[in-house]
Amino acid sequence: RILQVSSKVNSIWYPLSSVSSSSVSTVKLFIDGKFVESKSDKWIDIHNPATNEVIGRVPETTKAEMDAAIASCKRAFPAWADTSVLSRQQVLLRYQQLIKENLKEIARLITLEQGKTLADAEGDVFRGLQVVEHACSVTSLLLGETMPSITKDMDLYSYRLPLGVCAGIAPFNFPAMIPLWMFPMAMVCGNTFLMKPSERVPGATMLLAKLLQDSGAPDGTLNIIHGQHEAVNCICDHPDIKAISFVGSNQAGEYIFERGSRHGKRVQANMGAKNHGVVMPDANKENTLNQLVGAAFGAAGQRCMALSTVILVGEAKKWLTELVERAKNLRVNAGNQPGADLGPLITPQAKERVCNLIDSGNKEGASILLDGRKIKVKGYENGNFVGPTIISNVKPNMTCYKEEIFGPVLLVLETDTLDEAIKIVNENPYGNGTAIFTTNGATARKYSHLVDVGQVGVNVPIPVPLPMFSFTGSRASFRGDTNFYGKQGIQFYTQLKTITSQWKEEDATLSSPAVAMPT
Ligand code: NAD
Repeated sequence: RILQVSSKVNSIWYPLSSVSSSSVSTVKLFIDGKFVESKSDKWIDIHNPATNEVIGRVPETTKAEMDAAIASCKRAFPAWADTSVLSRQQVLLRYQQLIKENLKEIARLITLEQGKTLADAEGDVFRGLQVVEHACSVTSLLLGETMPSITKDMDLYSYRLPLGVCAGIAPFNFPAMIPLWMFPMAMVCGNTFLMKPSERVPGATMLLAKLLQDSGAPDGTLNIIHGQHEAVNCICDHPDIKAISFVGSNQAGEYIFERGSRHGKRVQANMGAKNHGVVMPDANKENTLNQLVGAAFGAAGQRCMALSTVILVGEAKKWLTELVERAKNLRVNAGNQPGADLGPLITPQAKERVCNLIDSGNKEGASILLDGRKIKVKGYENGNFVGPTIISNVKPNMTCYKEEIFGPVLLVLETDTLDEAIKIVNENPYGNGTAIFTTNGATARKYSHLVDVGQVGVNVPIPVPLPMFSFTGSRASFRGDTNFYGKQGIQFYTQLKTITSQWKEEDATLSSPAVAMPT
């Protein structure tokens, strides 16, 4: 099965082995059930972050192609919305099975384009797969409400109905998981979907589209366009798109939220982060240090839930040396190499930005205890690698603290009390995730209650909720009022219709018009 799909995909977009620079292959559009070559004259190179070789090109979709994709979604909507919920469920049931069967192949594409290790890439697919599995519970998730006999012979009930054409704009860091937060949830509710993957990592989305087609999703229910600003503007402005799901940086997210909302669309935007781990002196030391290192440096820190900042409270300050020792032991290598703990950053520009932020910490008075800027990876000298970096004596007014670094850099702050730590976390503008490490239940409870962050881990460093809950980042990490996946995801992709109906047994025809408000 894997080989079969793999060969199909290779012919759909670009061969994944021995691409010569003279014949770089192209990523197709997916319009009306067909993988088609764009007629664009503007193309963006896709690089392998471990080597910086060009491995393919993705088009900036033309206006005519974008219009065709949206028209396809619009045409497919009435029949798909009218398809029984049980039939839509069957498509998703087949889809989750095909994702499982092709998980390693999707992961291989992710590692090639995004750089993360194969094990981590498999986790990326797996966490998206869980959303698909959850979407299979649509027959329960879509239930409306009923209230019989609200007055004599009168009943009240509601349906959850799809919105129409919905769209998704995804970031580079989770090429499978984040698109899977979007189109399966939207489509199982009866919407059709226009997806714009990140232009840096389109491969996983293309393969996922192929698998969805193989699962029986009718032509036009999912369309895929590529590109950057023009594609995004088209999604924000087009009158036939009813809702936008965005995940990415604050710069893009604020813009899309504002522009999409101005055009009357629902918009949910998950954005940047600065996640703090608070370490109490009573924490299980061994466990905590391992968790901190894994959560700070896994995926080279390119996770919106990476634990990029740690606050050592009281006696826990003494653990700093051991933290550095553990981070030193991590193996930096190309993501497809056995034993790699972390791979490269996505682009040379991302590497330069991370290095500049490390430098700023140095200049502004922090101490670099572990410096990954000069790392060389044998055989991958042109890759965008930065090794694990730990900066201590960080203060909240420093540039490296104020900006999201999005690299393998752990900032260390110190306080004497839990209250001081909570104050720091709450004064940071972001509210994506946080974790407390303690063996004291009362301390954990106090932290969970007082901290103003959407997702809190207690001895859990990356508390991304499972899909029966929702992804609940808050403050500057989220715009909109209904979160991704779980019950909130269903709410986002549906509108309520409420029906008040009266069926009288006896003849009770009104003898005159009832002009007063019924009571
Ligand atoms: P990005 O904002 O650069 O790109 C995201 C999407 O927006 C891409 O599809 C891109 O084409 C488009 N885009 C980029 N710049 C744009 C602009 N100026 N105008 C319009 N569209 C634009 O984000 P990225 O670098 O791909 O991803 C990293 C960011 O995503 C980090 O800030 C990270 O914290 C965030 N992120 C957040 C979550 C979350 O759930 N909160 C999850 C993953 C990533």
